[in-house]
Amino acid sequence: MSGVSFEGIRKVYDDGTVAVKGLDLTIKDGEFLVLVGPSGCGKSTTLRMLAGLEDLTEGSIKIGEATVDHLPARARGLGMVFQSYALYPHMSVQDNLTFGLRMLAKTERPDPPEMKRMVQETASMLGIDDILEKRPRDLSGGQRQRVALGRALIRKPKVILMDEPLSNLDAKLRNQMRVELRRLHDELGFTTVYVTHDQVEAMTLADRIAVMKDGELQQHCPPLEAYHQPANTFVASFLGTPAMNLIEGQAEAGVFTSNGLSFPLPDHLSDCTGKGTFGIRPENVKVLKSNAMEAEIRGVERLGSESVYHLNVGGTDIKALWHRSGEEAWDAEKGGWPEENMFISFNDPSALWFSA
Ligand code: ADP
Repeated sequence: MSGVSFEGIRKVYDDGTVAVKGLDLTIKDGEFLVLVGPSGCGKSTTLRMLAGLEDLTEGSIKIGEATVDHLPARARGLGMVFQSYALYPHMSVQDNLTFGLRMLAKTERPDPPEMKRMVQETASMLGIDDILEKRPRDLSGGQRQRVALGRALIRKPKVILMDEPLSNLDAKLRNQMRVELRRLHDELGFTTVYVTHDQVEAMTLADRIAVMKDGELQQHCPPLEAYHQPANTFVASFLGTPAMNLIEGQAEAGVFTSNGLSFPLPDHLSDCTGKGTFGIRPENVKVLKSNAMEAEIRGVERLGSESVYHLNVGGTDIKALWHRSGEEAWDAEKGGWPEENMFISFNDPSALWFSA
């Protein structure tokens, strides 16, 4: 068993900054957990406490059944990959891969033939067999990233920690490495705790995400659950591009009213009353030819497979995603929509209500 559990974790730095405010979180054995949130929300601090690189102010951490609070980093049996790959520039790839093994106490150190076998196995798994003699400076960003990953994987740790490991790569390589990371995770079965501020990375990699804000956990669940049923307006607006439309106002007798805007609530929200926030994702705003709210078109981003309409309805900014493929989109956008106004409706079963 090598799940991880954080129990009441709190971290106050010496200067008084409260980075993590009482975190309870359980990561299952073999799970891919992504800690996600905006910069400064306490993700790295949480990961560093798990790694043993930072002391806890309060609380306790377990890896498997063992409490590790007082164990030094090297005794926690973790593999780590950070944003800066921290490869030794004067060593070959092979020596970088085996560095950690060579530093082990003699009784734990694999013998040279075994070490060679471990290098070959790791290198072939990551497709870096042909660069074992090279130095880091002679490698591409993607190759360096693989070596850093190899160094973490070579001892087959039960738990791998990654802190923004892909952020130095260009967009194409990042996508490719994302798929590869997930494949390795599935093949090797280790538990992964992964930190990123990038919601797309979180959504695509994770079995479950833990969304953090200001040192506090906001929601912990599978990514699509957080997308469709966000716990609060922060999670609602953090996940998804373009972000969910959130309109503050008042609900009464099945009608929503905000400054200059009034519309019937969808049936499933008709019982909501009082102050709150109405939420609807841009892809669920219905774009109609007539018989709906008239919206002024303030701008359009045409992305090919879809267009983002920046609209204004009675003083409220709304984004609508209009998604059609191929010629249909081209035809419709060439002549289908009026120049200045379009009609939209919020009558969709996905719409959400957040009570104030
Ligand atoms: P994230 O990884 O989500 O960007 P961090 O865990 O790095 O966030 O930081 C959380 C908060 O703790 C931030 O306000 C940050 O400025 C602060 N912080 C991080 N490291 C230190 C430190 N060594 N000393 C004081 N404050 C720190």
